Amino acid sequence: MEIGTNSIVSMSYSVATAEGEQVDQSQDGHPMVYLHGHGQIIPGLEAALAGHKTGDAVEAEIAPENAYGAYDAALDLQVSRELFPDDVQKKLKPGFQFEAEHPTKEGEHVLFTVHQVEKDAVKVSGNHQLAGQTLLFKVRIVDVRPATQEELSHGHAHGPGGHHHH
Ligand code: ZN
Repeated sequence: MEIGTNSIVSMSYSVATAEGEQVDQSQDGHPMVYLHGHGQIIPGLEAALAGHKTGDAVEAEIAPENAYGAYDAALDLQVSRELFPDDVQKKLKPGFQFEAEHPTKEGEHVLFTVHQVEKDAVKVSGNHQLAGQTLLFKVRIVDVRPATQEELSHGHAHGPGGHHHH
């Protein structure tokens, strides 16, 4: 069966930046499983996999716009610690995330991550770690099957590699 909307796809993969730095990979024997056509993986990879079938090897070079977005210098900020409410100030540490409006684009909300906390200042970034990167994916399609009604109503894959919450 070919990958299309509402397919459950199992795949092993590795991904590197254009400079050749390995970013991520599935573990041997533990393919990643996702529900195709619902934006659960980056748009460029979803498009590259459509129409492929079990056993296919797929290589895809994906531009930042179709991966984790362009790098936006306006989203790397140093802000005063006092701008955060008291209860949040206690929680500020690297990795802490919060949503806030884009500093220059009114109405656009961005997920920021705290990178560094100093006495009075906090360095935060709304750029994804892989923003601005062209990514090279090497994928092997392990299995393709139709989603069950239950999976469709939950909006994700079940079973090995999928969600386990039943
Ligand atoms: Zn579920």
